[in-house]
Amino acid sequence: MTVLLTNLPPELIIRILEDLPGRDIGRLSRTCTQLRSICRTDIIWQKLCQQICDIKVEEWDTTYYNIYTKVLHKYGRCLGLWRRNMRPYGGLMQIKVDNGRLLATEYKPPYVSDIHGPLRPEKVFSIGINKFKNQTEILCLHGYGEAHPGSIEYETEESDVVFKCCQMSSHAHPMGSSVELSIMIKKETNNHTIPFRKDDQKRLECYMKNVPKYRLTRIEVQRPDPVYPIQPGLFLAHYRSHGIEMFLLKYDMSKKEAEVIKITGDPNVPAGETSIYINLRKPMQLTKDQQLDVNNLLLLDEDDIPDSDDVQPRNQPFVIPPGFSTFLDDFTPSTCEYRYLSKGRVAGTGYTNPSFSPGHFSVQSQDNFYNLWLLMHCIFGYYRIKHF
Ligand SMILES: [Zn+2]
Repeated sequence: MTVLLTNLPPELIIRILEDLPGRDIGRLSRTCTQLRSICRTDIIWQKLCQQICDIKVEEWDTTYYNIYTKVLHKYGRCLGLWRRNMRPYGGLMQIKVDNGRLLATEYKPPYVSDIHGPLRPEKVFSIGINKFKNQTEILCLHGYGEAHPGSIEYETEESDVVFKCCQMSSHAHPMGSSVELSIMIKKETNNHTIPFRKDDQKRLECYMKNVPKYRLTRIEVQRPDPVYPIQPGLFLAHYRSHGIEMFLLKYDMSKKEAEVIKITGDPNVPAGETSIYINLRKPMQLTKDQQLDVNNLLLLDEDDIPDSDDVQPRNQPFVIPPGFSTFLDDFTPSTCEYRYLSKGRVAGTGYTNPSFSPGHFSVQSQDNFYNLWLLMHCIFGYYRIKHF
């Protein structure tokens, strides 16, 4: 016996539709007027919306049907964390649901005077619904005037998103470009309380040049796992003259290796490159005396350290060899939980002649690790980004 879908009671049809992808519901709704009206039942679209993200419909002031078909169906995949492709400086972007729209915010590192200070957010664009026209609205939020039209494109690579401003004339400051520049410098120097150096000038010029177009590559933060000596995530570190940079710590347990990847970069090692490789096969336990002599540390070869799959902490003293330059807090812990061999990326300006420099990676706590750059006689501290 054949039963037509339309002969079923509407509640049952809705129940069936709830399990279909949005595209199939759209196709079905075009087959007859009865199905068209059933397909518009908002509870079906509510489920589709919730599969993508948590939606508070009252903030959107429209139906789930509109939210799904006009925003989430096409732009839901923009949600999440992104690295800005802007060589060499890069950047961190987050796109999330905010007050009835998708909002893209760029987060700059804290001011160089306070690595534990807040990240500096800047709204870049939003995707929502224009209520008067009842259609999708992509707005560029840059500039000194009103929000103005922008566009989103997907590149051939699935994960790449490109945002473009469609009305650059709205960016100009009414009093001219010199006023605009001085406002930007004021912002970058925390109201002239920190120096504005040549490196900062170059970074600012690069930002200004790239304002019309944001190319984004997805950042995947791995899920926590007890096998990791320190959980994956985003970190900040003070990279000497380059200022504070942002990093992603991620693991490849098939190789027993971890990487510290640059989310922001500098003219030597650009964003997107790996700053440190950590060899998790080579856990170490060193005495205070062994750590005090950098030549002794440099002589420790991979072959001297036995391979180990043991993930238990190896608590030990932690001392910085004399003469090392640091950008650490006044307080440096005197113990560490894990210590591994590492290699850090060094390169000339423009990422010329990239090579590896031997190092030691040490885990101080779940929110803090260090890397000793043994040949360069310096140590950098990496601090977890917790809130933004
Ligand atoms: Zn714009």
